[in-house]
Parts: sequence; C-alpha cells; structure tokens
Amino acid sequence: MAIIGSGPSGFYAAAALFKQKDLNVQVDLYDRLPTPYGLVRFGVAPDHQKLKAVIRVYEKVAGREGLRFFGNVHVGCDVTVEELELHYDQIVFAIGCETDRKLGIPGEDLEGSHTATEFVAWYNSNPGYIDRAFDLSCKRAVVVGIGNVAMDVTRILVKDPDALANSDIASYALEALRKSGVEEVILLGRRGPAQAAFSPREIQEIGGLEGVDLIVDPKEAELDEVSRTSLQPDAKNNVEYLTAQSKLGEGSKPQKVRLRLCVSPVEILGDNGRVTEVKIEKNELRQEESGYIRSVGTGQYETLSAGLIFRSIGYHGVPLEGLPFNEKRGIAYNKEGRVTDSSGSIVPNKYVVGWIKRGPTGLIGTNKRDSSATAEKMLEDIAGKKAPLDPQKTPEAVDQMLATKKLKVVTFEDWKLLDKQEVDKGTRLGKVRDKFLTVAEMMEAIESARSAG
Ligand code: NAP
Repeated sequence: MAIIGSGPSGFYAAAALFKQKDLNVQVDLYDRLPTPYGLVRFGVAPDHQKLKAVIRVYEKVAGREGLRFFGNVHVGCDVTVEELELHYDQIVFAIGCETDRKLGIPGEDLEGSHTATEFVAWYNSNPGYIDRAFDLSCKRAVVVGIGNVAMDVTRILVKDPDALANSDIASYALEALRKSGVEEVILLGRRGPAQAAFSPREIQEIGGLEGVDLIVDPKEAELDEVSRTSLQPDAKNNVEYLTAQSKLGEGSKPQKVRLRLCVSPVEILGDNGRVTEVKIEKNELRQEESGYIRSVGTGQYETLSAGLIFRSIGYHGVPLEGLPFNEKRGIAYNKEGRVTDSSGSIVPNKYVVGWIKRGPTGLIGTNKRDSSATAEKMLEDIAGKKAPLDPQKTPEAVDQMLATKKLKVVTFEDWKLLDKQEVDKGTRLGKVRDKFLTVAEMMEAIESARSAG
C-alpha cells in the first residue's frame, strides 16, 4: 500500500493497517518534504511542544517492519498517481488541506493582508514559506475568524518573545517578533460566544498570558435568544469564560487582545496598496431549519484602523491529479474514506484519510479514529483475496521505479540523522530544536552525516 502524506492521518492509517494480525502489510509512506509529520511539524505552534510529543507514537509506527518512508518524493510531480497505481494494491491519500479559504471581500489582496496559514508556516520554518515577509511595524493587527488557528496566530503576535525563545520557532520569526510594534490584536468572530470555534483551553491561554489583557465587550458576550435556548453543553465553557472576561474591562497591561463577536469584515481598505482599515458589519443570528445558527448582516457598519490582517477562516484542499476533487468543499469525493467520482461511484483501490477526506476540522487525535475507519474499508475491500494480490507489485519494483527517476529519496534513517542535527543545533542555541530551513540544506546535512558514517 502507498500512503501519500506523512502527517498524523497518514501515520494513523499506517498504524491501523499494521494492527491486522493476519495480513502481511507493506506500507510505503510518501512525503514531498524530506521531513515527516506534516502539521505536527509545520502547523502546531512552537509554544505547544507538548502536542508535538505525539511524534513518539509515529516513530514507533515508522519502526515497524514493512514500513518504508519515502521523503523528498513529490507525488503529482516526481511520481504520478497513475504510476503509483501500477505498483500498489491500494493508495491512501493523506494530503491534508493545504491552502486557505477566501473571504471574498474587496481589499483581500492588499499588502498587509495575509492568510493565517502562511504566517503559521512561516514561523514554523516550512521551506515553502521561509521567504514570506510580514511587516509587523504597525500597532494593530486584525485576525478574522476565531478558530484555534486564529488563537495560535494571536498568541504568537502578542506573547513575550522571550517566552518563545527556547521553542523550535524559526529564528528569523523570533527576531521579527522581537522588533514587532503590534500592541493590539482584534479578533473578529462572525457569530456569538456560543458558536466560537476555539477550544476553551486556547482562549483561556490567551486570557492567561502575562502582559496581555483579553477584552470582551459585555454586550457582545451576551447570548441572544436563539443561542440561549439551544446552548450546547460543549459551548458552555466558552460562554461562561467570555462572560467572566467581559466583566474585567479594559485592563492596564501593555498588550491587548480584543475579541469582537457578531461582526464580519466586509471590506479591507488601503492606502498606496497597503492595508490601513477594515470595515466591519454588525451581525445578528438566525437559526436555520437544520438547526444551524447563521450570522446575517444588519447594515450597521464600523471601521477599524489596522496595519495587518490575518484571514484565519479555515483551510481548503488542493487538487491532485488522479484524485477526484470536490472544488466547492475543498476535499476529495469520497464515501466513508473510499474515493468516488463526482457522481458517487467508487473509484477502486483509492482511499482518503484526514482533512482531505472530511474537511479541515478536528484535533490531531481526531485523525486516529478517522484513519482507522478508512483502514477498515480498505481491509473489507481485500477480504477474501489471497496475498500477494498482484505479484508484480513488489517493494523491489517500487525501488526500481524511483531509481529510474533518479530521485534523492530520504529514508526514515536519513530523517533521524536530520532530526539529531536539528536537536543538537537547538541545544547549542538553548532551543528544543533548530529546524533546517531549505530542502537543499537538509539534503546536504543528510549527505554529510551519511558520509561521516
Ligand atoms: P475552524 O476551527 O474551522 O475556524 C474557522 C473560523 O473562521 C470560525 O470562527 C469560522 O466562523 C470563521 N469563518 C469561516 N468563514 C468565515 C467568513 N467568511 N467570515 C468570517 N469568519 C469566518 O478552523 P481553524 O482555526 O483553521 O482550525 C482548523 C482545525 O484545526 C480545527 O479543528 C482546529 O480545532 C484545529 N486546530 C487545533 C489546534 C489546537 O488544538 N491547539 C490548533 C490549531 C488548529 P463560523 O464558526 O461562524 O463558521
């Protein structure tokens, strides 16, 4: 089997397949980067190192006999899905949702208006984003959306850089944050406190930051009639916390995070091509027949001055040739993990896990259940068939195919060489890790470690 993408959902899919006792599973795990772990490495915030401890579970999976890691192999560029189909009985796409959703408002592309995904990838040293520039010289930044990514971005913007210094944050990002002029971040939530997408722990972490006031307007923290009558137990924590927070007033700490609720940006305004203001509209909430509570503009507007905007309204999948893609939803067409075409007919031997299957929702652990569910379908589909399913599809044939292409494949042992060097560099700098920034640097480091024996 081939699994494309070595983030959490890819590793959990491999783990679920290896759990089958009666099956001799061979898994090749592909990643276009030389490094494994996807969003655990490039998404999880540098000051959330505990979340990254899950890597130990993935390391165990990587150590299973029958698993090969093929890093630095870009499926869709270096190798096509069609080519992989010639070599594997089943292919699992664990490619995540790489890009961002669009707000679709005027001014979205002005200088100073960024996606949260870019900022996150930048401070986490993702090689594709290290040359992005964020002008942090302004006093006020606006973050659109109030999910956990918005919490990460906000926290990184207002937190004392000294408190990030020993993490694995990119050194250039730490330096930029040390020089940052940002004193206030305004978070814009289009719905009310009961519909906030952030986890209680994430908003409370912001409220507990040293030197930072979390300000909530008491009127905006109040529940409207619809939300009060349909309040879900999992929203109660946030509602209670925001109500308590709204009673604290403005505070006197040097950094401010202002949470605005029931407001939507309708236009980003600029001067000389650069963001200067955001026009927002007050919303009211209405319940649809399905029970979903929607925000509706009231026609009351307000303008906020801001030099920087981060759009943090969710991720969106990117199509890959060979994987039928639902452009509207930004995920692969699938039925419970089995890939389908746009009419819903099963496409044999192709499967999806993680965000490309269900959309960009859930925490790291959510992927465990989700990947196991897809693995069950994969096993159902081969049940009763005798191994080897196709004697032509051997690990050696894969090696040969990759060798003909003259690809510089990074194995898991190679990654461990890189890993060690990053940790050693980090130790010298007083950080948990100092990541390599470019693929070229990584390949060079692997080469020299290999030749040093
Ligand atoms: P998210 O949780 O889906 O949040 C997206 C936010 O954007 C919501 O507040 C949403 O509001 C808002 N939004 C969407 N469209 C909008 C529009 N047109 N105008 C204004 N606001 C809009 O997405 P995310 O923050 O990108 O996170 C993705 C997943 O990763 C989540 O499951 C998250 O929990 C997880 N994650 C977890 C952690 C952690 O555990 N520490 C860290 C980062 C990410 P509505 O609710 O009204 O749609």
